[in-house]
Amino acid sequence: MSFFTMTKTLIKSIFHGPYTVQYPLEKKGSFPASRGRIEINIEDCIFCGLCARRCPSNAINVVKAESLWSINRLRCIQCSYCSEVCPKKCLKMNNIYTAPSFENVEDEYRNARVSDNKENNRNIAGAC
Ligand code: SF4
Ligand code: SF4
Repeated sequence: MSFFTMTKTLIKSIFHGPYTVQYPLEKKGSFPASRGRIEINIEDCIFCGLCARRCPSNAINVVKAESLWSINRLRCIQCSYCSEVCPKKCLKMNNIYTAPSFENVEDEYRNARVSDNKENNRNIAGAC
């Protein structure tokens, strides 16, 4: 680094102020391309199971008969592969920071509309 470049960087740093923030009093926003957590629009899911089959860490579980889609947040490595293969584009990776977790909890999502229809169909079939 030349003397001129070094001096320029030094002067810039003096007037810039600190690059760090006083976390947790002050929080920095997430960067546009940062990876947070997978979110699902369950209304559009057709329970094909492609995301579960392609997930490298077996974090997703799909039970078509119960219209159930679930994810184990502890297993997910935020690779975003599931969102790329979903034919309905109902999975997306948001860029919201996810707090660390030590619990092996599954987040479950059900499509109430599909479940209700199945329940109604069962009731109709039972009445016949
Ligand atoms: S790939 Fe998409 S449509 Fe298929 S089960 Fe997964 S989230 Fe649902
Ligand atoms: S982001 Fe990757 S690891 Fe997480 S659920 Fe999707 S495919 Fe699996």
